[in-house]
Amino acid sequence: MRYVEEFRDPGAAKALIARIGEVAEAIGATREQPVRIMEICGGHTHAIFRYGLDRLVHEGIEFIHGPGCPVCVLPMARVDEAVEIAERPGVIFTSFGDAMRVPGTKKSLLQAKAEGADIRTVYSPLDALELARRHPDREVVFFGLGFETTTPSTALTIQQAAREEIGNFTVFCNHITVPQPIKVLLDDPHMLLDGFVGPGHVSMVIGTHPYDFIARDYGKPIVVAGFEPLDLLQSVLMVLEQIRDRRAEVENQYGRVVPEHGNPVSLAAMADVYEPRPSFAWRGLGEIDASGLRIRPGYAGWDAEAKFGIGYGARRAREVAEPEGTRCAAVMTGRIKPTGCGMFGTQCTPETPLGALMVSSEGACAAYWQYGGRRSPEAAE
Ligand code: SF4
Repeated sequence: MRYVEEFRDPGAAKALIARIGEVAEAIGATREQPVRIMEICGGHTHAIFRYGLDRLVHEGIEFIHGPGCPVCVLPMARVDEAVEIAERPGVIFTSFGDAMRVPGTKKSLLQAKAEGADIRTVYSPLDALELARRHPDREVVFFGLGFETTTPSTALTIQQAAREEIGNFTVFCNHITVPQPIKVLLDDPHMLLDGFVGPGHVSMVIGTHPYDFIARDYGKPIVVAGFEPLDLLQSVLMVLEQIRDRRAEVENQYGRVVPEHGNPVSLAAMADVYEPRPSFAWRGLGEIDASGLRIRPGYAGWDAEAKFGIGYGARRAREVAEPEGTRCAAVMTGRIKPTGCGMFGTQCTPETPLGALMVSSEGACAAYWQYGGRRSPEAAE
């Protein structure tokens, strides 16, 4: 298992943990006054708890779990609209598996499927396109969801559908972008963050420069990180060293995968197919300017919003209150830990999720549940 085990080497991990402790001591980080580092990506949240990194590093390091789980930030109104499309006669609605159980206001896609809607799990948008080829008498809709990691594959599939002139395939586009919500978090006076661990997979596509504003305008360090334990430990150390040295830079720990300027093929496909929406609603964060993508008019024939007259194309997403007693928004914005929500582990479990953070494997609540996150007094707001 070359290239994996070398990033899980216990001796190297111990050395990094010791160096993190030294730098944390040098900058005066304590349990009472911790250095607060946000890992933006849900994959990083998952890895931190899977490997117990939150418990291994110096007690003066606090991980704040960011909004980088696309299923978790999808507003209930968009789930409702997905169900609305899926329940139309003649539609085959396709989705990645992790979106199937996300609650809408009345039901999830899984519940709609149980009630008779033809909803199918696919592993890629190309699977949905193949369904459209095989069922020319049906309308096949793909639930386009995710950050810049999955956005290019949806764009390339739309281009392919256009080339083949497949007229019974559309995308219900909910793709979103990472940099804009970070700005919202940095502008929030209640959000006291000292630095960021930047997303690895998203940065493979967009490169590192979209994060320049974090260092330049807000004076905060950010280190783009890989997903193995040593990647994350080294990235935390790099953030701490910037704080110690009073630097604020964009650094790339994941250089073996992330090119500085991103992936030109993916970026070109995205630019061809999508344009920014004026704003898009995020669960827990509200409307954020230019944070969502819509399909350009030139590809309107493959846009489910245009074809079905639904969603942002026809109206703005409805503001829908979260279920009473849930604290998803506070978890999403790092104000509390999942264990600070009264529903955690009682009414809300992976089997009976009340919020999307418990549904997706990248959700902070699911990670705490699966790996037994810390229960502590400071979990409360
Ligand atoms: S435990 Fe459930 S209800 Fe509470 S914040 Fe997490 S997902 Fe939301």
